[in-house]
Amino acid sequence: MVTSRSPVGVHFNVWTPAWDETGSRRAIEATKEAGFDFVEITIFDLATFDAKATARMLKDVGLAATCSTALVSETDISSGDEDAARRGEQHLLECLERATTVGSKWLVGATYGAWGKHQQGVTPEGRASSVEILRRVADRAANLGITIGLEVLNRYETNALNTTQQARELIDEIGSPNIQIQLDTYHANIEEKGQAEAVYACGDRLGYLHIGENHRGMLGTGTIDFRALFRAALDVGFTGPVAFEAFSLNAVGTQHGAVLSVWRDLWDDSLSMAEHARRFIEEQLAAARAVRDSSVSHVSAQPA
Ligand code: MN
Repeated sequence: MVTSRSPVGVHFNVWTPAWDETGSRRAIEATKEAGFDFVEITIFDLATFDAKATARMLKDVGLAATCSTALVSETDISSGDEDAARRGEQHLLECLERATTVGSKWLVGATYGAWGKHQQGVTPEGRASSVEILRRVADRAANLGITIGLEVLNRYETNALNTTQQARELIDEIGSPNIQIQLDTYHANIEEKGQAEAVYACGDRLGYLHIGENHRGMLGTGTIDFRALFRAALDVGFTGPVAFEAFSLNAVGTQHGAVLSVWRDLWDDSLSMAEHARRFIEEQLAAARAVRDSSVSHVSAQPA
């Protein structure tokens, strides 16, 4: 039986702080060299993000890309501030156009509200605004063949979605088929009862995985239960992108590091660390598949 399999990628910040001319070339070439299927590009600043140049480089190297972004307070569609909401909708729509240019079928990240520490919770008016705008953005995304991912983040980085259960409720309220949940193991480790529980709460709405250790360094050297995570992901029929995410001061630099709260070095050599991550993810996926296949054939071999 042929089953579709998750493409495995890596976040560009493993290689470089900024998606500028030098950084993007380095990230694309290193991602290819480390054997990944795609690079995830976070669009932080539309003014400096050159989608056409990115598309050319990806084509030259033979690599796919996914896109993510993060709304901030000035573009917070869940704030209840009409000006911020309008700017946020424009930002998301423009990200969709850039994603199309680079060939991404995804726009994931903090797409539903501002990324960062908040001083108050989301109001009912703010939530209604977010729902209404995401509905319109999803309509445009559907025309472009793009799925929107809502990345569930820990309490210090969003006031809106801390658990996949909350994301599922928001998605049901929006009602757009091309909005799915992006689960990040690093954030889930802080907020959820377990990695598997977080996956099962998504069910068929799990669209995109961020794979990170609890310390956001080398996979397998922390406390995240990846075995349980991947087993649960297969159980819910997940075949979406799996992107490795890790941050180290010597890779992201002091300026971008401060934005990400990265204050120390987690590894020395990005290439060997990323190659290890790709193998680790592929092995974990294969092991989960083997366990699942053997239990399925065992069940079907039982007399009726
Ligand atoms: Mn993430």
